[in-house]
Amino acid sequence: MAYSVTLIPGDGIGPEITKAMQRTIEATGVDVRWEVVEAGERAMAAQGTPLPDQVLASIRRNRVAIKGPITTPVGSGFRSVNVFLRKELDLYACLRPVFSIRGIRSRYENVDLVIVRENTEDLYAGIERMVDQDTAESIKLITRGASRRIVRFAFEYAVRERRKKVTAVHKANILKYSDGLFLESARAVATDYPEIEFEDRIVDNMCMQLVLKPEQYDVLVLPNLYGDIVSDLCAGLIGGLGVAAGANLGDEIAVFEAVHGSAPKYAGQNRANPTAIILSGYLMLKHLGEGEAAQRLLVAVEDVISDGEHVTRDLGGSATTWKMAEAIVEKLEVNRGA
Ligand code: NAD
Repeated sequence: MAYSVTLIPGDGIGPEITKAMQRTIEATGVDVRWEVVEAGERAMAAQGTPLPDQVLASIRRNRVAIKGPITTPVGSGFRSVNVFLRKELDLYACLRPVFSIRGIRSRYENVDLVIVRENTEDLYAGIERMVDQDTAESIKLITRGASRRIVRFAFEYAVRERRKKVTAVHKANILKYSDGLFLESARAVATDYPEIEFEDRIVDNMCMQLVLKPEQYDVLVLPNLYGDIVSDLCAGLIGGLGVAAGANLGDEIAVFEAVHGSAPKYAGQNRANPTAIILSGYLMLKHLGEGEAAQRLLVAVEDVISDGEHVTRDLGGSATTWKMAEAIVEKLEVNRGA
């Protein structure tokens, strides 16, 4: 079966790492037809908009996309393409499985968490203004509908993936209305899933708990801002941003991407770690129903990292992005022949 997938190379290191990802996905033998569309800085330069209409049209048509990171100008310039994409396509759930990768040196072993981050509201709703010249205001928008939807998504995921516990993360002791509503919604939805344990944690305590004993947590569900921050914290538990994969999911559409950004200082140097986007490709293969190929890809990535010979600098090696991808392809071929 052939799959049509929208590919957005992105900015900074995006084009290099997505090319590496394409190479490894193709080596699994799964027939993916890539529809390449540009968004971000290059689209801005060529077409005057960072998100041309054909990008959204392509994703809507294919329903599956994988994207490189896109630079967001700080302070001024265009608004985040990532935030806009998520809102426009109603990709309300950001899923970030955080698992220990064989071969990666980390202080933690056996981490196996899943972060489910609400993707459409909270402080990312873009409701900001200057009240006067010296005062800025950002509105934290939390609705019952979006809160229930994301918590239900987390529980449904837990049931499907045979997970045991869902933890809702909030700051309802201080933000009594907004986070209070999120927590109340979470508690209400949890009653529909008596077979899954439910608990809640205040976000600051959650950060400490994750650093001390991450193995005690299973599925975490969070509003947008805490989800963003805790995702990077969790990436640190398993070896850093270079290896953390993710997906943005709606009811119909899935867009896969690494947790990290466009790392402009490494752009064009062929030295960025391609693992996070390749593992996002692994999640994409699972989503497409190609679980066996996905597993082979994961094993090949872990084999290369365990060997330690062809890994990028952030993993303690000296390989280029492309060399690491080639090594993964070789492992796929060897493992397939075995
Ligand atoms: P970043 O993730 O680009 O970089 C953080 C640190 O991690 C840097 O030291 C960087 O060099 C390193 N790093 C990141 N990816 C790496 C990789 N694959 N291999 C090796 N090292 C890697 O975060 P930032 O500097 O805060 O953001 C840079 C730009 O990316 C900003 O414009 C930001 O808005 C954007 N961004 C985009 C996305 C996205 O498209 N989803 C996500 C986060 C940030």
